[in-house]
Amino acid sequence: MSTSHLGLDLGGTNIKVAVLARDGDEFEILSTNSVDTKAAEGPEGVTENLVRVGDAAISASGASTLGLGVPGHFDRETGRVLLFPNLPGEWQGFPLRDRIEEALGVGTWMINDARAFTLAEGLLGAGKGCHTVACVTLGTGVGGGLMIEGRLHRGAFGVAGEIGHQTVLADGPLCGCGNRGCVEALVRADVLASTAGRSSASAVFEGAREGDDRCLAAVSQMADYLGIGLANVVTMFGPERIVVGGGIAEAGDLVMGPVTAAVKRRVTLVPTEKIEIVPAHFGRFAGAVGAALAGSLRP
Ligand SMILES: [Zn+2]
Repeated sequence: MSTSHLGLDLGGTNIKVAVLARDGDEFEILSTNSVDTKAAEGPEGVTENLVRVGDAAISASGASTLGLGVPGHFDRETGRVLLFPNLPGEWQGFPLRDRIEEALGVGTWMINDARAFTLAEGLLGAGKGCHTVACVTLGTGVGGGLMIEGRLHRGAFGVAGEIGHQTVLADGPLCGCGNRGCVEALVRADVLASTAGRSSASAVFEGAREGDDRCLAAVSQMADYLGIGLANVVTMFGPERIVVGGGIAEAGDLVMGPVTAAVKRRVTLVPTEKIEIVPAHFGRFAGAVGAALAGSLRP
C-alpha cells in the first residue's frame, strides 16, 4: 500500500516542498514547489511559516510524515536547534521539531539540508544504485554527505560526512565552523567572487568564459582546493560516483573539468578511471525530496 510523505526544506527566503509516495522500496515524487517567505525573521516567524506551508501540503496530500530539512545542526534526540548559522534570530535551544509536530499532528523528523541532498541524490537521483556515493553542494556554503550501501553515513556522533569542513590548506582563511583552511572557506561563492574581483560567482564564470586571466585563475584555484577535498574522500571511501550540485556546479565543465582533473591527479590508490563525477539530478528540490525520504524511511 502506498503512503505519502511530506518534505519541507527551510531556506533563508523560501520553503521548498516535496510530496513523495512510498510503496515498499518504490518511491515516486508526486509534487514539488517553492513558497516565498521573505518576511519571516527568527524562530517564531519561521515556525509560523513552516506550519502554514506544511498544513496546506498535508491537507492536499494526506501525508502521514514530515521530514524537515534545516540549514544547520540540531540535537537528534530532543529536536532542539544547536546552530543555524545563516538564519537571523536566537535559534539556540529552540524546540523546532516539537513545535512543528504539535502544530501539524504528524510524526516529524529533522535532517540537515546537506544530508537531505545526499539522501535524495544517493537513493533516487544521480547516485541511484551506487555502492558508495559522495555528494557535495557548492554555493553560499559547501554541504556534503556520504552514502554507503544505500544508507546515509553519519558516523558515531551523527555529524560525519561534512566534505566542506575538511582542512585543505593549513592555516588558511577562517571558516564559519571555527576551523581554518576548510574547503568551504576556500571555495564558497563569495570567496570565489572576491578572489576574482567580481560581484558574484556567475560574473566570475562569465569572465572566465571570455578569457579574463584573473577569473580563470580564481576558478582554477577553487577547482584545486575542491579537488583536494574530493580526492581525500575518494581515497578514504572509494565512491564510484561523486554527485555535485548547487549554484557553482551549474557552471558545468568550466568547474567540473578542472575538479575532475585535480581528483585524478591526486588519487593514486583507487582506480579513478572508474569514478564518475556527475551533476545532481534534482536541482533545487533535492533538499525537500531528501527530507520527505527521511520521514518516509522512519519506522
Ligand atoms: Zn569549516
